[in-house]
Amino acid sequence: MNPIIIIGGGPAGMMAAISAKLHHKNYDVILIERNKDLGTKMKLTGGGRCNVTANMPVDEVIEYIPKNGRFLYSTLNTFGPTDIIDFFEQMNCKLKEEDHFRMFPQSNKAQDIVDTLKNKIRSLNIQVRLNSFVTDVDVEHKKIVINDESFKYQHLIIATGGITLPQTGSDGTGHRLAKKFGHSITKLLPAEVPLVSNDTFIHDKTLQGLSFKDVSLSVYDGKKIKKTITHDLLITHFGLSGPAALRGSFYVLNLLEKSDEPINLSIDFIPKLRLEELEKANQIDEVFKDHNVPKRLVDYCKDKAGINYLKMLKDFSMTCYTTRGFPAAFVTNGGVAVKEVDPKTMVSKINPYISFCGEVLDINAFTGGFNITSAFSTGFTAGKNVNLF
Ligand SMILES: Cc1cc2nc3c(=O)[nH]c(=O)nc-3n(C[C@H](O)[C@H](O)[C@H](O)COP(=O)(O)OP(=O)(O)OC[C@H]3O[C@@H](n4cnc5c(N)ncnc54)[C@H](O)[C@@H]3O)c2cc1C
Repeated sequence: MNPIIIIGGGPAGMMAAISAKLHHKNYDVILIERNKDLGTKMKLTGGGRCNVTANMPVDEVIEYIPKNGRFLYSTLNTFGPTDIIDFFEQMNCKLKEEDHFRMFPQSNKAQDIVDTLKNKIRSLNIQVRLNSFVTDVDVEHKKIVINDESFKYQHLIIATGGITLPQTGSDGTGHRLAKKFGHSITKLLPAEVPLVSNDTFIHDKTLQGLSFKDVSLSVYDGKKIKKTITHDLLITHFGLSGPAALRGSFYVLNLLEKSDEPINLSIDFIPKLRLEELEKANQIDEVFKDHNVPKRLVDYCKDKAGINYLKMLKDFSMTCYTTRGFPAAFVTNGGVAVKEVDPKTMVSKINPYISFCGEVLDINAFTGGFNITSAFSTGFTAGKNVNLF
């Protein structure tokens, strides 16, 4: 019997290997990784803490996956946030919930998440081949090529990731291999990436360094609001960063693909109160204090808008003409076209002995634990549904 082979030792590939062995005990499972260790990118996630999932129902999770979220409906119902939490808890890796339903290891160490997966892989006797770069797949003879050697497979799972942070190993090889045996690769764009603005207040650094909790950022398509995101935001030397800006970047980039004009944005710095409520407030400075509106911002708005400064705090217009691009992006928008993959099994519709999982697929989610959730879920399903006939 030839083995089940998985290329890529990130969260998707590790979970695929675990799932393959759990579901197909009689088969050898081999996990192949080009780096000297598994989970290289994963160790850097969540600022070194790894936001491993989001503690919310599947229907809600899908709302946080702007690109092809519906494709994940079936797999998330098979292996979703609750299963991920259970998996780590059962392996004695305790998790904790923070704001916005984000789940982290109690130790605050991404390394513990990686170690837990590695322990499971070891306990299941899954063979791990490190420092092994897969350069080719011979689909006709069901072989993969590593340097001068080739290895036969019964079923192959490609979990090679996207193209962000290529120094961690995910550099688009998987896309090239998939293309070679007939898959379409949709356009690759940076996603979850900070926004760049040419506006005077950014150049002047007037508001640089101000950070906000749960403000509302709206992205405009012409005069219409395309999307409003309420989350934390940071004004930087180049524009906007923080979760609200990262999430907004998906819509900004889609609009910039269609137009050369800068995209209009608006920030509501006090989204919990209506303008009329603000105008009626007796002690406006107290309101600002309660809603964490910094004095530097209030002074700026007073200077620019005079008596209309409250309106400006509720509708702070600015523009964005680009993003910080791939070097600053958290995920890749684009990848193996999902219409060519069975959403119930992750098996390729072009070759029944090949599956895909994780960021190599044309799926991208918001930051907040949703990308690793997608990687674990698709990995689990891919490992379970290999073709052994
Ligand atoms: C800085 C940063 C922070 C992030 N924080 C979070 C977070 O907290 N929560 C969250 O949900 N998401 C986060 N993400 C996104 C998340 O890390 C990715 O979506 C996730 O790692 C994708 O998993 P994957 O297994 O598909 O790919 P990867 O993690 O990229 O793993 C792919 C693996 O395949 C290997 N590989 C590639 N090609 C080959 C080849 N030809 N031969 C052998 N091996 C190969 C690579 O070396 C790599 O180890 C973050 C991303 C970044 C960049």
